[in-house]
Amino acid sequence: MGGGLGGAAVALALARKNLHVRLIEQAPEFGVIGYGIQLGPNAFHMFDRLGVSDAVLSQAIIPNSLLMLDSIDARIIARIPTGASFMTRFKRPYIVIHRVDLHQILLNACRSQPNIELMPHTDVVGFEDLGTRVRLRTQNDQLIDGGAIVGADGLRSIIRQQMLNEGEPRMIGFVAHRTMVPMSDVPADVHRNDVVLWSGPGFHIVHYPLRAGTLFNIVAVFKTSSYLERGDIVSYRAEIEHTYRDSHTSMKALLSMMDVTRRWVISDRDPIRRWSRGRVTLLGDAAHPTLQSLAQGACMAIEDAICLAEFVHQDNGDFARAFRRYEAARYLRTARVQLESRYHWDNFYHVAGIEREVVREAWSKRGENEMFDCLAWLYDGFVLPSVPSGRNQSSASKR
Ligand SMILES: Cc1cc2nc3c(=O)[nH]c(=O)nc-3n(C[C@H](O)[C@H](O)[C@H](O)COP(=O)(O)OP(=O)(O)OC[C@H]3O[C@@H](n4cnc5c(N)ncnc54)[C@H](O)[C@@H]3O)c2cc1C
Repeated sequence: MGGGLGGAAVALALARKNLHVRLIEQAPEFGVIGYGIQLGPNAFHMFDRLGVSDAVLSQAIIPNSLLMLDSIDARIIARIPTGASFMTRFKRPYIVIHRVDLHQILLNACRSQPNIELMPHTDVVGFEDLGTRVRLRTQNDQLIDGGAIVGADGLRSIIRQQMLNEGEPRMIGFVAHRTMVPMSDVPADVHRNDVVLWSGPGFHIVHYPLRAGTLFNIVAVFKTSSYLERGDIVSYRAEIEHTYRDSHTSMKALLSMMDVTRRWVISDRDPIRRWSRGRVTLLGDAAHPTLQSLAQGACMAIEDAICLAEFVHQDNGDFARAFRRYEAARYLRTARVQLESRYHWDNFYHVAGIEREVVREAWSKRGENEMFDCLAWLYDGFVLPSVPSGRNQSSASKR
């Protein structure tokens, strides 16, 4: 349930294991809105399993490097090359891609599976576990019965809310504005072929190219006491100008191009060990929402999808057992992403004063191999559960 990147990936993964899947989405159309997204090499191991790696690569850009720049003087704080040496080390590329393009690749693969039913315009309001089957209820009182529910319904998951009753996610006082502009509008002195993160006290900007270098994706993120208020373009722009007043001229030029009509409130949740109850489980942001410091939220949702489908297959449709094994296999890795993302957010991306100088001193001296070693736990990928010997691999079915 939920037709985002996680939902589309798990629908495809389950269908490729011969299950019948309904992909239920509240929006009138699947996958039509989005900006850029970065994907680490760990996502590609999963794309291989879904048979979409070539399609993804054909729409992606492999940047030269991931660069972290100081927002005041543009000095390099950290650099991770993402070219040949990265490929040699991690076997798979680091890419940037338009989220809509990635979504459409997954959705087209779903459409080519006769055992996936796409159900847009279907707003789920709750579920019931009936013991031998489950039931979703929609906004217009439609009932949808099935063998199991995968709640891939994002940060404000209603499946999670009904299961765990925790209330709102943790808001940290930061907001984001996202924009894509034609590359031809981008000032000449801006890095065009890298993923750049400008780090500043209480704010950052990320930018990178998209769609064969014709588009430029910019994300501005900053702390503000008005993060819960809905403002207008004039008030948002004034706030941005004030927040970034001391930043480098290149950053100011990029900020002047931002479309500030829409604002996202940045949130996450504390990690948890258990996110399944019987035949109902969660996936992606619904299970382990994270700050975007490591650019791994969608990558984790895609890894979840493969892991979940593998266990459902291995457990021959015993969903409750498969979901317990899935969360046990996934919680530590996803918790590490959540906690390291918080750590980098607070102690690396947004530091000020002498702390900023210490960070720059320490990180700018790190060589390529040291950087790769730091990221190996993440980029080497998720080790998929092996199939226990003696199990009948071809007998997975829907219960
Ligand atoms: C500014 C920003 C930048 C990011 N950059 C990156 C990045 O570079 N790399 C990366 O890997 N991750 C990144 N992320 C994180 C990434 O966007 C998320 O982790 C990812 O989209 C989660 O996917 P999901 O499918 O779990 O949830 P979502 O993408 O939120 O999808 C949930 C879907 O469920 C649907 N839905 C919700 N409620 C209902 C309902 N009641 N009934 C029916 N349908 C419902 C929604 O409409 C939606 O389509 C970023 C996040 C932000 C905010």
